[in-house]
Amino acid sequence: MSFLYLKLNDKIFWLNRLELGLHAALVVMLSFSSAVLAECQREHVKVQVLGSGGPEMSDARASSSYLIWLDGKSVVLIDAGSGSSLNFEQSGARIADLQAVAFTHFHVDHSADFPALIKASYFTDRNTDLLVFGPQGNHLMPSTTEFVDGLFGKKGVYRYLSEYLTTSESGAYKIRPKSISTLNRSVRGFQISKSLSLASIPVHHGPIPALSWRVDIIGCEIVFSGDMSNQYYTLEKLAKDADILIAHNAIPESAKGVARKLHIPPSEIGKIAEKAKVKKLILSHRMTRTLGQEQETLKMIRKHYKGPVKFAEDLDVILP
Ligand SMILES: [Zn+2]
Repeated sequence: MSFLYLKLNDKIFWLNRLELGLHAALVVMLSFSSAVLAECQREHVKVQVLGSGGPEMSDARASSSYLIWLDGKSVVLIDAGSGSSLNFEQSGARIADLQAVAFTHFHVDHSADFPALIKASYFTDRNTDLLVFGPQGNHLMPSTTEFVDGLFGKKGVYRYLSEYLTTSESGAYKIRPKSISTLNRSVRGFQISKSLSLASIPVHHGPIPALSWRVDIIGCEIVFSGDMSNQYYTLEKLAKDADILIAHNAIPESAKGVARKLHIPPSEIGKIAEKAKVKKLILSHRMTRTLGQEQETLKMIRKHYKGPVKFAEDLDVILP
């Protein structure tokens, strides 16, 4: 059956042609009520944590990375922080199944294992182009296109792998990077396939261009805060009614100075989860300054959000 997609209020509505006919009038009258919002087909979707830590090498965790599974296939990778490639392997994910990689930003703890993934792809049967999304650059950070080019371009540090960017006789698939502006603080949507779309919104992470991401997959909505301070108050919009919000617990409530300028305290995470009415909250990007503070963190979150909360561990599987 053929499906049509309608995008309203940053939500994807799936209607097959019959439903479209039956519901069209009602839909207009009810401003696209929840009656036609696709239900999350929970039994088909999983999220797996490939890295629940931050940049430290004392947290016994890989750095930030998450995988979306659809019917046993690893279809989307969010960030590829240091150490996450080992957990990619442990999870049983296949590089050939990836439809898109989305970066929240290009700090080392979110991007260092990307070249490892691309090199490893040489030994797989991947033959379709790889979409790579991420923020635009500034004086401190490369854009997504520059990041990919700086690795695999003709003058890149791994230029011996430039066949993944340039036309070559090897027949290698191509990396297709897309840099997303962080100037306009609104939601941007990207349709990847019939059953999968991504949406981003700029978030404040000090001077670093950064995005939060939402994966919309067969009616399930999974949101990744990335690193952010919440100065823009944009995440609550992207996360509205999400099935899962994975937020970064990089600082304790008492944090001040640079750490607070870059990151969000637990009470703010609680406020966002409550405002957005997310169905499940996962706390990740755990660092030595927040590990051991879970009771206090939970207390601050519980002041605002009463839904299920879980602290992430590497390789955790989360069901919507
Ligand atoms: Zn980080």
